[in-house]
Amino acid sequence: MARYAIFSDVHSNIEALDAALALTRADDKLLCLGDIVGYGPNPNECVAKIRDLSFATVLGNHDVAAIDNFGLAYFNPAAREAMKWTQRVINAESTAWLNSLGYEFRMPEFLLVHGAPKNYFEYILDKAGAGRAFAATDAPLIFIGHTHIAEYYALEIDGSITHKHLQQGGEVVLVPGVRYIVNVGSVGQPRDLNPRASFGLFDAETHTINIVRFDYAIAKVQEKIVSAHLPEALARRLLVGR
Ligand code: ZN
Repeated sequence: MARYAIFSDVHSNIEALDAALALTRADDKLLCLGDIVGYGPNPNECVAKIRDLSFATVLGNHDVAAIDNFGLAYFNPAAREAMKWTQRVINAESTAWLNSLGYEFRMPEFLLVHGAPKNYFEYILDKAGAGRAFAATDAPLIFIGHTHIAEYYALEIDGSITHKHLQQGGEVVLVPGVRYIVNVGSVGQPRDLNPRASFGLFDAETHTINIVRFDYAIAKVQEKIVSAHLPEALARRLLVGR
């Protein structure tokens, strides 16, 4: 049975992506939940690596913005400026591959979406949002990113929803009959006040998910952001994880 490494919101941060890959095994199946580009200084390098290594990848809103301006009007000023920069440097190969991707990927035991099932770019922010998401699919396990906050929601057998943050990482042992929405956090721009990057490891044999928090060369990415003339706020936020 496979072990899956689940990456989300890499956001053109190749230092964090390489550090995450170094923590996986060669036989892990790599799943990517989108937002490979946006914010950071290395979009083409990140797209090439995910393209070459991933078993399945779904689109995030920044990926769609990079290829056809989707939602750009709703981006905050720094995100919009970074996206315009991304559109200038992204190459035809990266664009073509992003264009080939879909919004969801379903296996019998899990579903991959960027933000939420069906409304792919909705933010699941609370138990009410999680309840809508559980109702929108029959997948027992849903992996998401999008908010850059590592956490999970469980739909218990009695119908109640429980929630837990995974700000410092940790293990989720899947209970039969319980359904889960697991946000694996962000590889390239964590926002849960822990600057350590985040990804998920799902062991389909032991039915456990580990959220791994790890260090990477933040200062190097900050230097690249500044020398690329991307908004400096995007460099500062990496250090505080918000
Ligand atoms: Zn994102």
